[in-house]
Amino acid sequence: MSSLYLHIPFCSKKCPYCDFFSQVGQQQQLDEYVELLRRDILIVKKGHPQNPPFATIYFGGGTPSLLSAKQINLLLTDINGTFGIEPEAEITLEANPGTLQLEQLIAYRQAGVNRLSLGIQSLNDQKLQLLGRIHIAEQARKSVAMSRKAGFHNLSLDLMFALPGQSLQALEQELSQLLGLEPEHISIYGLTFEDGTEFARRLKSGDISSCEEGLYAEQYHLVHETLIKAGYEHYEISNFARPGFRCRHNQTYWQRTTCLAVGAGSHQFIDQTWGERWQVPPDLARYKELLRKNINPSQLLETFDQQGAMKECLYLALRTSDGLDLPYFEQRFGFRAEDLFTQAFRKAQPYLKSDDQRWYFDLEGWLLYDHLISHFL
Ligand code: SF4
Repeated sequence: MSSLYLHIPFCSKKCPYCDFFSQVGQQQQLDEYVELLRRDILIVKKGHPQNPPFATIYFGGGTPSLLSAKQINLLLTDINGTFGIEPEAEITLEANPGTLQLEQLIAYRQAGVNRLSLGIQSLNDQKLQLLGRIHIAEQARKSVAMSRKAGFHNLSLDLMFALPGQSLQALEQELSQLLGLEPEHISIYGLTFEDGTEFARRLKSGDISSCEEGLYAEQYHLVHETLIKAGYEHYEISNFARPGFRCRHNQTYWQRTTCLAVGAGSHQFIDQTWGERWQVPPDLARYKELLRKNINPSQLLETFDQQGAMKECLYLALRTSDGLDLPYFEQRFGFRAEDLFTQAFRKAQPYLKSDDQRWYFDLEGWLLYDHLISHFL
């Protein structure tokens, strides 16, 4: 299976908590960027002539829904003409509810997009305002209704929790509203204060406060219990899906399978020998300059040795409910995980569960993931 990620580093407005590579973009910049992506696709094809047709394609950002359906269609046509796209491929577009119209959604669907990931973030107007989002809750609800009308049967909604001043009851209300929208997939993110963001500065100056640790854990538990009860599967630390609707694209990251990538700020993983990770630096001027000269903008970030590959395989797998497949690990690397990580395994008790076939974290283990996983690295 192979996958492609396209990074669209433009937004209508920069959110004060966001440290993703994105900037406010004008129409002309977007048009120019699409042409650069088209060149990038050809360059990536030259480097990977034998790569099979893509089973998943993901337009991420930034705000990919700033691109018109015509532009998405152009890119998908190029991708199909170079690498090919499998008939049942999952093609996801991240969309900002503040940028959507029904006609546009219908045209995205016609262009081949079959999965939308809507950045709802909250269904509370005060919280949306605090987060500096460009939409209000009503627009979020409308964008879900319009997506259904446009023929999308695979919708993912993003929800943030651990927001300043957010009580357990307020989150409960939001979850119940979210469930009313009947998404196939839900991604949840606790608010973090990343260095260099406006929120980090406001936190430092005491203007806003972060969620206290105990409340964070209670909120994570509440999300888990509410969504499980509603029939969702908690299949990765931050992701829930109705049966059959796990995000196939994101699973390639956790399983370390090849994912090619185009666009400034994108990362690609090549599953050869023990694995290679490449990056296109998050620098639009450089991206433009190199692509105008038809030079590959990717740089090698890391070539894994066997030990590095084993560690990465383990810590990515433990993010998922499937966990680490022990027979697979032994077959792939020639060593038993039980022998290699004996000490770390002990330290991760009692949160790390095991049977003959796999290791996996329980919910408490996921909450403590960063700490527990450090024993294995
Ligand atoms: S819309 Fe998304 S990518 Fe853009 S600034 Fe806001 S959070 Fe960041």
